[in-house]
Amino acid sequence: MYGLNHFATKGAAAHAARIFHGAGVPSVLVGWSAIALVGGDFLNNDVDFVVRDSQIRAAANAMVRAGFSPCADAACLAGKEDRASEIDTLSDDDYYKEEAELFFCKDRYHPVPAVHFHMPHMIILSLHRKSRLLWWIPDDHFRLEPPAHDDPYFVLSTDAARVPARDLLAWPGPEEFSHYLPTANSSGSSGPWRGLYPVKVLLATAHLKMALLCLCRDLHGTRGLDWLWFCMLYELAERQMPGQDRASARHLLEEPQLQAFWDRFRGHVDVATDYNILEPLLEYRAGLISGNKLPDLPEGSAPVTVVFVVNKQPVTDESAFQIMDKDANAFPWVFLKRNG
Ligand SMILES: [Zn+2]
Repeated sequence: MYGLNHFATKGAAAHAARIFHGAGVPSVLVGWSAIALVGGDFLNNDVDFVVRDSQIRAAANAMVRAGFSPCADAACLAGKEDRASEIDTLSDDDYYKEEAELFFCKDRYHPVPAVHFHMPHMIILSLHRKSRLLWWIPDDHFRLEPPAHDDPYFVLSTDAARVPARDLLAWPGPEEFSHYLPTANSSGSSGPWRGLYPVKVLLATAHLKMALLCLCRDLHGTRGLDWLWFCMLYELAERQMPGQDRASARHLLEEPQLQAFWDRFRGHVDVATDYNILEPLLEYRAGLISGNKLPDLPEGSAPVTVVFVVNKQPVTDESAFQIMDKDANAFPWVFLKRNG
């Protein structure tokens, strides 16, 4: 993307954080630009802030006073859940090629923001309601003060002790299973954003919980957001500091079923080859739905099949292994293909 660079995204996030703070609006950075700090740092133009629902207008007004105009274009793709719906009309062959390209951008699906702004360097700044993404964090935790040194949800982007630069933790599970997990594309985290205004950012484990809860909400929903959360799980794989042992790099979640899913998904716990890795997550989801604990649950469902793709060609999972065995440079990927 022309004009886009790692510094531009972080700079835009810091600029906006200063504007919100100046207006007395507590905000927290989530999504890809936050994951740069707590997960994998890759080039992206989305800057996503969450504020309390009642303060969306105050945050937007502060941006206006700082010289930015809210996007009023009803057709703007940045305001849509699916930013590339035309891709579903492609032939199967082209679908996998195109979708594979898009996957690298990881930005086909995006929660519809309450309001968004186009900033320099192609940055899209989105303001999201807390009730859509972080409903499970207490409202009074959104404060102007910096987070405590042991805050369970938030950290400052400048906190060198809590968000040091980390490398991706090598796949901890059985080697053959790692073929399903496209971590080869992932990178280390950015390290603290020195020299920039401090941004309150969602911590890695809290981010993982957001992605898992939103995945539960949107799984197989018609709006396609489950794809986004699924992609996020990969980028939220544990990052490790030099000399740090694997066990202490492991993400620890409060909910046993979420932990069970994550440990199997990430290979911290071995599973039989015929085990459905989504099982603990589906059980957890059923409990949330029956307890009416998933706000904004999408209506309807779109059946989704998991497709294994190697070198941009859909294959069965067995032949994927055979190709991988023969060709060390083969590039594997996993797709959720929406049927109809
Ligand atoms: Zn727009």
